[in-house]
Amino acid sequence: MQSNNKCHKIVFVEYKLSSMKNFEVSDKGYYGKFGGAYVPEMLYPNVEELRENYLHIITTSDFKEEFNSLLKDYVGRPTPLYFAKRLSSHFQTNIYLKREDLCHTGAHKVNNTIGQILLAKRLGKKKIIAETGAGQHGVATATVCALMGMDCTIFMGEIDIHRQAPNVQRMKMLGATVTPAMSGSRTLKDATNEAIRYWINNPSDTHYIIGSAIGPHPYPDMVTRFQSVISEEIKWQLKEKTGSENPDYVMACIGGGSNAAGTFYHYLDQESVKIIGAEAAGKGVDSGFSAATLKLGSIGVIHSCKTLLMQTADGQITEPHSISAGLDYPGIGPLHAHLYDTKRGTFYSITDDEAMQAGLMLSRVEGIIPAIETSHAIAALEYLHAKPHETVVISLSGRGDKDLATYQSYFNL
Ligand SMILES: *Cc1c(COP(=O)(O)O)cnc(C)c1O
Repeated sequence: MQSNNKCHKIVFVEYKLSSMKNFEVSDKGYYGKFGGAYVPEMLYPNVEELRENYLHIITTSDFKEEFNSLLKDYVGRPTPLYFAKRLSSHFQTNIYLKREDLCHTGAHKVNNTIGQILLAKRLGKKKIIAETGAGQHGVATATVCALMGMDCTIFMGEIDIHRQAPNVQRMKMLGATVTPAMSGSRTLKDATNEAIRYWINNPSDTHYIIGSAIGPHPYPDMVTRFQSVISEEIKWQLKEKTGSENPDYVMACIGGGSNAAGTFYHYLDQESVKIIGAEAAGKGVDSGFSAATLKLGSIGVIHSCKTLLMQTADGQITEPHSISAGLDYPGIGPLHAHLYDTKRGTFYSITDDEAMQAGLMLSRVEGIIPAIETSHAIAALEYLHAKPHETVVISLSGRGDKDLATYQSYFNL
């Protein structure tokens, strides 16, 4: 009887797994063929400490209470789900904007930095480090370090420090130390190398906050869980507005993939909801100046994660290009590589020009100036051909204040 029962149970579990596509991360940190933790040996103890503890810590009621209360009173959640009437009539469908641009600091990134700093505190860490390219993740990290009274060092390429001066000033205002990365091309990848070097040398008292759903396991899963509050809210908000928690489409732009992962998360196994991503095609997918990782990429390892990435035949990572700093990344989070590979998701490559036009359009029809990253998701509406009775939810990942100079010079305003 006993063994019969057991047998039945195992068969049931296997049946469930094979009858639905599973988009949860595996124990070893994989989404299908993508993910894992390809870390240098000296980094292994740090990543292993995280892996052993993160799930336990973030599911305790003490953690959840503090996280939810900060999301509510500090970040300003729930962010509105806004029915964009004029945008909807332009595209002849029903479009809802999930207003992550209204989060404190102006984008979704703070959802993740709050989660990670609460985790770091519970692991007994005293110092926070992070890498940043455009400075958005650096600002979100410096913000939560000020909030928690923790020491903060942001590594940033020396070239980026000059290009992104306003964000450097914000980080300094918030009390962070901004350390220039002087090696290589003096941009994001060099800043990442410096952060990793620092972490190896300071393993016991330091936590490294990665800014997207990338990096070694458990980072992609951890960041996805913190950002999943986006789709958790969309479900009840949409139900309130339309009577159904499921739209026909959920859409988001993808750099590393954190706002997209959060927007898709609670819909991954709901096959009636189509998943749509927008990646950056720069000057065009085949122009040589692009960040269209899914179209151009092949499997390899970037930032300790096996995923699709842009590389030469001998495995050198290709320099990406996008007008939006937040999408200017040669890889993509492993969850999205898996959604692409299994065809669960549909991904459009949006050029700089298409994104800029969409950003101007949203500003003029809804009075909302989006971040240029977000404009890529808006531009993808042109390709979607959603029907008049259908419902589309788009993640409005961030606001465009940081991009005004770029919009201004592009449109000669
Ligand atoms: C950083 C950023 C992105 C891209 O990052 P993901 O991890 O792919 O979400 C998108 N939008 C805004 C506003 C950003 O700041």
